[in-house]
Amino acid sequence: MLTIHEICEATGGQLLGNPIQNEVSSFHFDTRLLTSGAMFIALTGGTRDGHEFLDEAHQQGAIAALISNLEIARQNKELAYVHVQDTEQAFAQLAEYYRKKLTIPVIAVTGSNGKTTTKDIIAHVLGYKKKVFKTFKNLNNHLGVPLSILQIKEDDELAVLEMGMNHAGEIDFLASIAKPNISVITNVTDAHIEHLGSKENIAKAKAELLLRASKDGFAILNGDNPYVVAIRDFYPGKAYFYRLNGAADIFASELETNDHGTSFLVTAQGVSYPFTIPMFGEHNVSNTLAAIWIALQFDYNLEEINASLQTLSISPMRFELVRYITETTVINDAYNASPTSMKNSIRTFSEILPKQKKILVLGDMYELGADSEKYHQEVGLLIDSLKERFELLVTVGNEAQAISDARALKSRHFTNRSEAAHFLASIANHDYAFLFKASRGMRLEELIQEMTDLLKK
Ligand code: ATP
Ligand code: MG
Repeated sequence: MLTIHEICEATGGQLLGNPIQNEVSSFHFDTRLLTSGAMFIALTGGTRDGHEFLDEAHQQGAIAALISNLEIARQNKELAYVHVQDTEQAFAQLAEYYRKKLTIPVIAVTGSNGKTTTKDIIAHVLGYKKKVFKTFKNLNNHLGVPLSILQIKEDDELAVLEMGMNHAGEIDFLASIAKPNISVITNVTDAHIEHLGSKENIAKAKAELLLRASKDGFAILNGDNPYVVAIRDFYPGKAYFYRLNGAADIFASELETNDHGTSFLVTAQGVSYPFTIPMFGEHNVSNTLAAIWIALQFDYNLEEINASLQTLSISPMRFELVRYITETTVINDAYNASPTSMKNSIRTFSEILPKQKKILVLGDMYELGADSEKYHQEVGLLIDSLKERFELLVTVGNEAQAISDARALKSRHFTNRSEAAHFLASIANHDYAFLFKASRGMRLEELIQEMTDLLKK
């Protein structure tokens, strides 16, 4: 992968000791995930100092470590060391160096919502004919992106990287390391508005990707989102738009939801083709359009792209349809929630499973700042406008109570997850479908698990 010499060159670090081999085969900052021949990165920013784990790193097969604390390193003489001032910064420098050595196209996906889903769809479709690397799960931050880049193998033909952010400047940092050839921006919504103040600021923070991306590549942007449209001019290269029900470089029309997913007509470059995807929600059609456009640029045709989508399996907890032994239908969308994604999810739920009585189980949305109550109330207003489609609203947590306050739909509120699970298990049967959604920190999947366990009894 990289020689010790290259690692010193990339980081400006100094080699101490004699490595048993010249090449490092992989990198990790978590000793549990080290493999033989690896370099351990001793990060210091977390709750524990990585230098405490040098022995463990050696036991796990590491041959070298990137360190900043010479004192602790002296006590463990088994590894070779590259000594730097700041290991986190040096880790990013390593990734940047390695990226420059790679000649493959890098696709970067950012946006307020839908990054992981879009990244997974792109990788799946392109994987039909090519060896594609993609970000593992959600490793999209200042540590996850460098780690992901350093995991790209020499025989990978393409890489799809997810980039997330909570603050201005973060995407700039990630994109400067990854130097993407292709940029995807899924949308700009109110997620993380607490830190950024306004949607305009969020849009500018996403535009950092376009400013850093290679001008010879292209950007594929969500043309339905006015904030994304407004940042198009940040990119001096070619930019394309995808849209639902409106003219664009690639667009979807005739969207229809069934119990297995969604069908729609895709039009691109003057040709139309019918698509079906095993996913629910208009936003997933939108996410899929970005992937289709990229695949078209790599000479896949619409027919084979649609064929490849039939075997797509989405990451768990993103509007994941689960049917239980009691035949109760559960839609687990509990991965995360922002006001926009919660409203989308509620709308989609209202459109599918026409035979079942529907129960909304909604928890707190975090990181919404001073207007948090207002955002929760807006979700309540949407539910009100669709109230004939739902049987019951169950809210869980603290802030979620504002969703149910003064709504016409019958509702129950629980501050305790376990009590909510008992209540839901007591009413569940095959007539019902439940939608679960809340911010990550609410861990609604544990509520689903508890409800499932109770149902199995
Ligand atoms: P995170 O910031 O946690 O990494 P993410 O951007 O990767 O999130 P996903 O994990 O793909 O987002 O999806 C999370 C939820 O966002 C989905 O369950 C869905 O409700 C919603 N979502 C997905 N795609 C879109 C989209 N294009 N527009 C709006 N909401 C979306
Ligand atoms: Mg993600």
